[in-house]
Amino acid sequence: MPLASGFKSSILFGVDCANIVIIGGGVVGCAVARAVSARWGDVFLVERMPKLGMGASTRNSGVIHSGIYYPPGSLKARLCVAGNRMLYEFCAAHHVPHRNCGKLVVAHDAKQEAALEHLAENGRANGIEGLRLVDRAVVLAREPYIAAGSALEVPSTGIVSAEELIKTLARMATEQGASLLTSTRVVRMESRGDCVAVTLAEGDGEGAQRTEETVEARCVVNCAGLFADEIAAMLGNRRHRIYPVRGEYCELVHTKSYLVNNLVYPLPHADGLSLGVHFTRTLWGTVLVGPTADYVADKNDYERNRLPVEEFARRAKSMLPGIEAADLQLAYSGIRAKLVPPGHEGIADFVIERDANVPRAIQLIGIESPGLTSSLAIADRVASMAAEILA
Ligand SMILES: Cc1cc2nc3c(=O)[nH]c(=O)nc-3n(C[C@H](O)[C@H](O)[C@H](O)COP(=O)(O)OP(=O)(O)OC[C@H]3O[C@@H](n4cnc5c(N)ncnc54)[C@H](O)[C@@H]3O)c2cc1C
Repeated sequence: MPLASGFKSSILFGVDCANIVIIGGGVVGCAVARAVSARWGDVFLVERMPKLGMGASTRNSGVIHSGIYYPPGSLKARLCVAGNRMLYEFCAAHHVPHRNCGKLVVAHDAKQEAALEHLAENGRANGIEGLRLVDRAVVLAREPYIAAGSALEVPSTGIVSAEELIKTLARMATEQGASLLTSTRVVRMESRGDCVAVTLAEGDGEGAQRTEETVEARCVVNCAGLFADEIAAMLGNRRHRIYPVRGEYCELVHTKSYLVNNLVYPLPHADGLSLGVHFTRTLWGTVLVGPTADYVADKNDYERNRLPVEEFARRAKSMLPGIEAADLQLAYSGIRAKLVPPGHEGIADFVIERDANVPRAIQLIGIESPGLTSSLAIADRVASMAAEILA
C-alpha cells in the first residue's frame, strides 16, 4: 500500500489549504478517507502509529453486529443496522474475508428467556429481520457443549477480518487520490476563519523528535478513537470525556477449539458496560473467549494486571460447563472509548457532529462497539457533513 511515512517527505506541505484532514487511521478514519476521496481532492489522513489500524480497530472481536442491543432511533442502532448491510456488500464486492455465520444469545432460565424476548423486540424495532427464539434442542444440535435452556438466533451477525477491511479501505482511498500518512501525530489545532490550522509532529510521541509542521484544512475530521476527546479539546471542545475500558481475551487451546462451533453470547450486562464474556469462532478457526470490561486509568494500558485464565474459565463456565483453566491461553486485549464514567450505568450514543464553536471540524467521539460494523455508514454520514462544510 503506498503509504507516506515521515511527514517531512510528504506532499502535504505543498498544499496551501487541504480540503479535508482526517485525524486517525483506524477503520473509521480509513472508511471516511475512502468516502470523501471519492468526491474531493486534497484529502489527507494522519495516523500517529507506524501502521494503520493499530488501535481498537484490530483489537476487537471482529463481529459484524446486527444491532439488537441499541435503543431504537439511536445513532448506534441506525448506523449499526445500515453498516451491517453495507459491510456485507462491501466485503463481497472487494474480497474482504468475512462470514455471515449468525449468532446465538443463550438463556438459562425463565427470567433470562423473558429478557431474550425483550432483546428480540428491541431488535425488531431496529428493523432487524429473522430473529427467533429457539429451544434447547436447536441449541444442542448446533452447539453440543453449550449449556442453555433456549436462545435467540440472530442470523444477520457475522465476522470480518478487520485487518483486511482496513487495508482495502486504505488502498481504495489512496487510488482515489487521498494521501495517508503514518507516524504523523496531530499535536495542536487552531481555528483560523475559513480553515483550521493543524500542527503535526513526527512519530507517536514516544521518544519521537519534536519537529513540527502546520497545515491548513477547510474541513477536519476527528477519528482519533480513544484520544478523540483530547483532539476535540485542542479546539476548545471539552464537552466529552473518554473513559478507557479494557477488554481482555483468552483463546481456547487448539485441541479444545471443537467445544464451540460459532458465535455464542450470554445476555448483555445490565450495566450496559459490555455484552458479557462470549465465544467467537474466528475466520481462522480459533475460538476467542471475552472480552472482559474493566475501567483502566491509562489509555495505553493494554497489559498491566491481566486477568488469569482461571478467572476466564470461571466466568465462561455457565455457558460452557466443561471448560477448565488448562483449556485457555491468554490472547490480546483492546480498549473501548467509553463516554460513561465508572459507577454510571447505561449506553451512551455515538457522538458524530460538527463542532459547535469550530463548525469546520467534525467530531466523532465515543465510537466504541459497534464502530467496526458501523464504519461504512458512519463514513457516509461524515461525507454528507463534509459536503455542507465544503459547499
Ligand atoms: C475489546 C473490543 C471489542 C470490540 N468488538 C467489536 C466488534 O466485535 N464489532 C464491532 O463492530 N465493534 C467492536 N468494537 C469497537 C470497534 O473496535 C471500534 O468502534 C472501532 O475500531 C473504532 O474505530 P476508530 O477508527 O474510531 O478507532 P481506532 O481504531 O482506535 O483508531 C483511532 C486512531 O487514531 C489514532 N490517533 C489518536 N490520536 C492521534 C493523533 N493525535 N494524531 C494522529 N492519530 C491519532 C490512533 O493511533 C488510532 O490508530 C470493539 C472494541 C473493543 C475495544
